[in-house]
Amino acid sequence: MKWNYRCPTCGREYGIEPGRYLCDPCSAANVPGRALHGVLECVWTGSWDPEADGAIPLPVPARFFPSIPVGDTPLWAPERLRAELGFPRLFLKDDTCNPSGSFKDRASYLVAAFARERGIKEIALASTGNAASSMAAVGAAAGLKITVFLPAAAPVAKRIQVLQYGAELREIQGNYDLAFDKSLEYSAETGVLSRNTAYNPLTIEGKKTASFEIAKALGPALGAAAGGRKAAAPDHVFVPTGDGVIIAGVIRGFEDLLKLGAIDRMPTVWAAQAEGSSAIARALAAPAGSADPFVPVVAATTAADSISVDAPRNGHYALDGGGFHLGGRPAERALRPGEAPEVWRQGRDGERRGDLRRPATGLGQGRPLRGALLGLRLRGLPKSPGKHRPEGNGGGDAHRLGP
Ligand SMILES: [Zn+2]
Repeated sequence: MKWNYRCPTCGREYGIEPGRYLCDPCSAANVPGRALHGVLECVWTGSWDPEADGAIPLPVPARFFPSIPVGDTPLWAPERLRAELGFPRLFLKDDTCNPSGSFKDRASYLVAAFARERGIKEIALASTGNAASSMAAVGAAAGLKITVFLPAAAPVAKRIQVLQYGAELREIQGNYDLAFDKSLEYSAETGVLSRNTAYNPLTIEGKKTASFEIAKALGPALGAAAGGRKAAAPDHVFVPTGDGVIIAGVIRGFEDLLKLGAIDRMPTVWAAQAEGSSAIARALAAPAGSADPFVPVVAATTAADSISVDAPRNGHYALDGGGFHLGGRPAERALRPGEAPEVWRQGRDGERRGDLRRPATGLGQGRPLRGALLGLRLRGLPKSPGKHRPEGNGGGDAHRLGP
């Protein structure tokens, strides 16, 4: 298979090379602190040979991935939550089981593999915490130098984690936007690889592995597709959403599965945003033709820090028909703020599920967190309203609801 970067806005293609992150013409007018224009996506052509291309099609050969065990996290059945919500086929994808404790390890894993393939010795990034500790952990396993730009307000625990993994920590007296800019200046000056989330396209592509694991766990092995049996696609997948990178990666994964013939339809993927950090929800509700639906930038107020963003870096990627493939259509099934779907009412569900989810995504938090929940109808998804149950849901990184 052959890999390239492609701009979902203008269609230009670029080689996957170190130093290439954005589409030149589409990113020319980017403004610091705003949602990014010109974010690229990985695309492939040709046929997938699992022997040569790996169990999951990725733009770096399997031999370059470090030995740290990223992914293959549990998809488990929360019995008591199922009974309480009345959804007997609800599943939780628990990515806190990754080495550094977050979904971000999937992106760090691919970026580290890319660095090793290209002989790059150092990776730099800005982060509010999770991406930094993730890249530090995976980088340590890969034998790479990691330089982290953290805003001064980053949690102490994350700073400690970064240092324990042996990364170089540069504390920035300012917010994430300033740390982001400083890290890019550093990358430009030194030529090191940037792993800034939503900026390096590999951070999106690396996250699609979760979708492959979900499909594999839910249905027959992917290899069975060749024998006429399809893996089972979930009906609905709910993704806590801040910048929009994880949900874009999850959608990319299901698109690949559909392209490979491993599933026969796309799931409905839902972006769950906290009411106090709902820039993507607001942008989707903005009138068609708005000059910039992410302006004015509204300061996030949610306590769910991992999905707390002022300007979602992947926002335009979403609206331009990239990650979310909305094609400019208004969101369907947008819930008004205050309609607090059950997904956010799980304040004390940790005790019923047997795990205590970190407050980072608002799940398992000690108090209710109201959310705006958006149903994103995907390109190519047949309309079958009878099979969708937007009124019900659960909590976690991904879910499957029964028809
Ligand atoms: Zn472009």
